[in-house]
Formats: sequence, C-alpha cells, structure tokens
Amino acid sequence: MGLFDKHLAYRDAYKAIQQAGADPFTVRFDAVVSPTEGVVEGRPTILLGTNNYLGLTFDEKAIAASVKAVQERGTGTTGSRIANGSFEAHVALETALAKFYGHKHAMVFTTGYQANLGVLSTLVGRGDHLILDADSHASIYDGSRLGHAEVIRFRHNDPEDLAKRLRRLKDVPGERLIVVEGIYSMIGDTAPLKEIAAIKREMGGYLLVDEAHSMGVLGATGRGLAEAAGVEDDVDFIVGTFSKSLGAIGGFCVSSLDDFEVMRVICRPYMFTASLPPAVVASTLTALEQMIAKPHLREQLNSNACRLYDGLNALGFVTGPAASPIVAATMPDVERAIAMWNGLLQSGVYLNLALPPATPDSRPLLRASISAAHTHEQIDHVLKVFAEVGAALGVIDGQKRATA
Ligand code: PMP
Repeated sequence: MGLFDKHLAYRDAYKAIQQAGADPFTVRFDAVVSPTEGVVEGRPTILLGTNNYLGLTFDEKAIAASVKAVQERGTGTTGSRIANGSFEAHVALETALAKFYGHKHAMVFTTGYQANLGVLSTLVGRGDHLILDADSHASIYDGSRLGHAEVIRFRHNDPEDLAKRLRRLKDVPGERLIVVEGIYSMIGDTAPLKEIAAIKREMGGYLLVDEAHSMGVLGATGRGLAEAAGVEDDVDFIVGTFSKSLGAIGGFCVSSLDDFEVMRVICRPYMFTASLPPAVVASTLTALEQMIAKPHLREQLNSNACRLYDGLNALGFVTGPAASPIVAATMPDVERAIAMWNGLLQSGVYLNLALPPATPDSRPLLRASISAAHTHEQIDHVLKVFAEVGAALGVIDGQKRATA
C-alpha cells in the first residue's frame, strides 16, 4: 500500500489521456507571441483557451508600468499584507477598484482562488448558512470547506429552488449568504441575477457575486453581470480576479458593508500568504484603466463571441445556452473529446479539455474562451479546423460541414 493508492483510478485515467497524444494538462507553450498566438511543440498555434478576454496581456502601457515597478520596487514583496507586504501600489489598486465598483471598501488577494477562500470562510461561520449554486467554482466550494457555516446547494441557475431552500430556513437562526457567479466558467451561462436578487430582497440574507469571468465582459462599463442586470444595489459583495480580463494574477473583493475592513486581521488566506509582487499590481492597475478607457474592446469581444458560437452551432456542435466569451462544445464521450482536442492542437488550435467530474452534468467539453484580440480570420480558421476534425471523428455530421 502506498500513499497514492487511493488515487489509482485517476492515475490510470490520466495515463490513458497522455497515451492518446499530447498531455492536455501540462501542454507547454514554447512561445507566446501575442494574446492570440503562440508556439506549441514547434507549431504556430491560435490560442483559444486563455481567458484573456480583452487581450490586455500585451497592452503596451500595462507592460511599461510593470517594468517600471519591478525596477523601482523589486521583484517581490517577500511578505504578507499584515507584515511587510503592503506597498503603496496595493492600496492604490484597492482605491481604484472601490471607485470602479462604487463601493466603500476593496481588498486585494494574491489570487482569485484565495479571494473566495478568504471571503467565504470569513463572512459566515458556525451557525450561519452558505447557500451555493450547485455548479459553483472549486474555489467557492473550497472556501465553504475552510469555514464552518452549514453549506446548502441549490440547483444550478434555478431561482425557485433557491427560494425553496431559503423558505426551509425561515425560522432557523443564523445569517444567510447566497453565492452565484456572473458567468459560469465551464459553459459560459450567466446567473438569472434579477430573479435571485428579488428573492434575496424578499427573503433576506446577503448576496455575493463572483464576477471572475464577467468583469470587463458584461455591463455598460464592464462591472459585470450585476451591472448588466441592473441589480448592483442588491449585491453585497463582488469577488473577482485579475487573471482574466485584466491579464495578470490576483483577486479582490469589494463591498460597502460596515466593518468590512476587519477582514484584514481575521481572513487567513489574506493574512498568511505573500502579497502580489509590484510588477503585477502595476500592470493590473494599468489594465483596469485601459479596460475603463476602451469600452470598444467589450463590443469587439461580444461580436467575436457571437461569431464563434454561431459558427460552431451551424456546424452542428452542441454548445451552451447562449453566446458568451466562453464557448464550450459538448463531446459525445471522453475518448472523442481527447481525440478532438489532440486533432485541434495538431492543426494549430489550442483550447481547454474539460472532463468529468469537473464539468456540469458530467459532460466532456472542449472549452474555448474568445478574446477581443482575435481577428475574424482567426475565428473563421478555427471554425474550418473544428469542421474538419469534428467530421473526421464523427463528432458532427460531415454534410453540415459542407453546407455551413
Ligand atoms: N472564480 C471563478 C468563477 C473562476 O473561474 C476562477 C478561475 N478560473 C476563480 C474564481 C479563481 O481565479 P484565479 O485564477 O484568480 O485564482
């Protein structure tokens, strides 16, 4: 018996995936030459799985700010925010985020994962109730484990089921925190936030929206789904990340609740880890300014999303319920998902292979994330490759391919 024996089933499944071609979970980018192009195993490749929604990873101003920061402040903070790791730039970024969202308070974390871990384990505790959408991201589930609140799941995107579960808690003491996501990371569907906010108004409790994938993507000014749905006043906490639209790494939470700042001395995933390095804080702050200054990027992104979504549907692929910058094609089985992923990569298209149990309804998925920086030519080329590989593997009907 060995320590890893309990993981043998995963080891065998992983080996089988590796033997089927390139390893999708450790694929190596030899070069990244732009937000949408790289070199993988010596092959020029269109990057279609990066979450780089606005293409800001190569923004000239963000890069210049980052270089200046590393030269002036060094490579790292070498400490947590409560020790030696609070630089003036962290505070400036928090001030900018609070202003952008129109909230009183903002806290920056080292990743979005840690933001959820920290906020969810701190806001609710023993005797409280954490009410999660069943398809919540792993960081939300892990945050719920780190705290001591009772965890209740409601059916994905089902406000009726949420209301039912809140009704059951009617006379039960303790706080209630409802948690949903702006755009769900696997198939790109959005939460029915208007309905959820109305239920919260009627039945009480607090509402947290994770806008990781919707910041910079939805809403008139890019604040996310709460802005797009017109319910910002009902949302008590917004969590987000710098690793998608802002092209860096890090996470945050904003709120206007009194006493929010006490989290700085009780929230363990904030307190006991090193803070973001100066270069990252500088590029993030500049990317936020660029995102605000360039609303046309959002229009471009949404037009690109429609082009890919409509194109894949016309070819006969089964995708999510509506066009979104995350476009996931459901594969008939795990074997063909792996074969399709390999076929696309060999044809110079990289995207994400998402397999059960990490996917909704245990569906094998090929998950694409589109960027404002993709050109129409790139998207049309991707569709051509999807058509060829999909027809060769019998994932789609070759006839449709000919007429699409
Ligand atoms: N929340 C959601 C909904 C996510 O999809 C992700 C990352 N995929 C995170 C949080 C974590 O973000 P980060 O990459 O900054 O840790």
